[in-house]
Amino acid sequence: MAGESVLRPIFQRLATSRRMARLAQTRGLSRAARRFVIAEELDGAVRGAAELNAQGIGVTLDNLAESVTSVEAARASAAEYRRILQSLEEARLPDTNVSIKLTGFGIDASESDCYALVEDVVRQAAAGGRLVWIDMEASPYVDRTLGLYRRLREAGLENVGVVLQAYLYRTPDDLAALASYRPAVRIVKGAYSEPPSLAMQDREAIRQAFRRLTLASLANGNFTAIATHDDGLIRPLRQALRERAIDRSRYEWQMLYGIRPELPRQLVAQGEHARLYVPFGRAWFPYFMRRLAERPADIWLLLGRGEGL
Ligand SMILES: Cc1cc2nc3c(=O)[nH]c(=O)nc-3n(C[C@H](O)[C@H](O)[C@H](O)COP(=O)(O)OP(=O)(O)OC[C@H]3O[C@@H](n4cnc5c(N)ncnc54)[C@H](O)[C@@H]3O)c2cc1C
Repeated sequence: MAGESVLRPIFQRLATSRRMARLAQTRGLSRAARRFVIAEELDGAVRGAAELNAQGIGVTLDNLAESVTSVEAARASAAEYRRILQSLEEARLPDTNVSIKLTGFGIDASESDCYALVEDVVRQAAAGGRLVWIDMEASPYVDRTLGLYRRLREAGLENVGVVLQAYLYRTPDDLAALASYRPAVRIVKGAYSEPPSLAMQDREAIRQAFRRLTLASLANGNFTAIATHDDGLIRPLRQALRERAIDRSRYEWQMLYGIRPELPRQLVAQGEHARLYVPFGRAWFPYFMRRLAERPADIWLLLGRGEGL
């Protein structure tokens, strides 16, 4: 679509504009953004998660925050996650866990403080029997993220999951190197703009890599979260899982809130486990712009419904 090449860079630029983010924050969550961001405040997110859990859909909550450059700000994000976990306990949500980003926990400010803050959150989550997924960010963070994951496991913490990106050439080696931990692994295609020296650029090659990684992860006995909205992956993988008689307790499907909302419902109706990655928070604007950058055509849909940005 011709408009896409014009709109995509605009949304990408808006996603990084602090001025626009601040302006949007003062105006509050727009109607259009509500498609992808469940609420601005924690109580709304917990209510939304409770509704999804009641429909048999799992949730992983992501607190949208600005990137953090000081240890002090990292402490504030960690405190927010502890507050989230406490609310999940109070609301007794049966199937809601959390996803974190290490840049939000100050990995750029201090790796040792970042580790300590993450460890605290993971310990609190363990007390409620909840998993903490550590999202994978752009390639300069991969070694540090995997290193921090290993450290948590070596400290005896099991309730932590790691994300591997199919587009990176290094990922099969990373999966093999983690094998002895029997990790909970989320497989994704990869969301960042990476150079051809590090990452595949061809959509079909990425799909094939995704398929291979998912099956290799399951063959190693890892609990595997298959995170995609792509029917070109979901259909053949479901077939492959059936053929290998893989028990449904060993994997789940994960999707982003608001993208193909019918899909988790269909999967659950067919006896599969599906979990939605549900973002909430006052810093909703950059996340909303990134979603529009992925599919600029959505802008017409939203404007057509009279939903201003
Ligand atoms: C639960 C979850 C967690 C993730 N965590 C990470 C992470 O930690 N690190 C990371 O790098 N990436 C992460 N990602 C993002 C991932 O890497 C991909 O960028 C993203 O999932 C898009 O790839 P896809 O497999 O859905 O396929 P695509 O090829 O992007 O999409 C497949 C189909 O989905 C539908 N679709 C896609 N986008 C939209 C949209 N905006 N609106 C409506 N329909 C749409 C369309 O039908 C499209 O054909 C995560 C994704 C999910 C689902």
